[in-house]
Amino acid sequence: MAAEAAVAVVTGGSRGIGRGIALAVARLGHTVVVNYRSDERSAAETCRQALEQGAAAAVAIRADVADLDDGRRLVAESLAVAGRIDLWVNNAGVAPETRVDLLETTPASWDRLLGINLRGPFFLTQAVARAMIDQRGGGVASSPQIVFITSVSSRSASVNRGEYCVSKAGLSMVAQLFAARLAGQGIRVHEIRPGLIETDMTLPARQAYEQRIREGLVPLARWGTPDDVGRAVAAIASDTLAYSTGTVIDVDGGLGLRIL
Ligand code: NAP
Repeated sequence: MAAEAAVAVVTGGSRGIGRGIALAVARLGHTVVVNYRSDERSAAETCRQALEQGAAAAVAIRADVADLDDGRRLVAESLAVAGRIDLWVNNAGVAPETRVDLLETTPASWDRLLGINLRGPFFLTQAVARAMIDQRGGGVASSPQIVFITSVSSRSASVNRGEYCVSKAGLSMVAQLFAARLAGQGIRVHEIRPGLIETDMTLPARQAYEQRIREGLVPLARWGTPDDVGRAVAAIASDTLAYSTGTVIDVDGGLGLRIL
């Protein structure tokens, strides 16, 4: 591994938005750690593309972010293979397996969503924060940053996937909490709220959203891409926001705007 390159770890980096982020930081010449849960082939393909686009090095590490032991192992293995962590991106997340009305939400779906989207990233970030504090204490010159990929659903109520909205609203507060706790340690924390991004996650609702985009739902009148989100993370990774923490960045084509 190239010891001098900054190191970015992207959870759920194998495909979709995570891949867009991994490739955008690869273009900055970072070493990229691509976490995945099950899709090893996609993770390997993302690593291949990251190297092609300029990453100093790229490695895939399997871990389930909902499993707290796995999360701690992911932090330890990332440090073991890359030597340092400059940027940690909490991207991995899931939608409900089926969208159902709020009055039909099941405890099983609630627990799954909250486990993967909220509980896992909270404790994972706790472990990352400790590692970053140790890293700075150990004399590694870096100003580490943590990014949370939340959603426009943090503040938009969708009654056919309430458990997703709750998980993302909670994650927005987790970002605020870690920003407040870690500022004194020189660790900055940012939240990115994507809108409608064209990935596997939105595939089941693609047609319905196409129609609504045509009707004006998104002021910029198009789907977002994983690269749109990736470029926002790359701006953070390039230290463009050196005097910002607890920042909320909307990457949603204006979907969250209140328009009279
Ligand atoms: P996606 O295409 O379904 O990809 C999800 C990624 O997360 C995959 O790499 C998957 O890995 C990984 N993942 C899922 N559960 C995991 C777990 N327990 N542990 C580790 N990795 C796990 O989804 P996406 O659209 O890119 O979404 C990425 C993030 O953006 C999510 O947090 C999502 O909520 C958020 N978001 C998406 C949109 C959108 O419109 N697409 C909008 C706002 C926010 P494997 O394939 O290996 O399982």
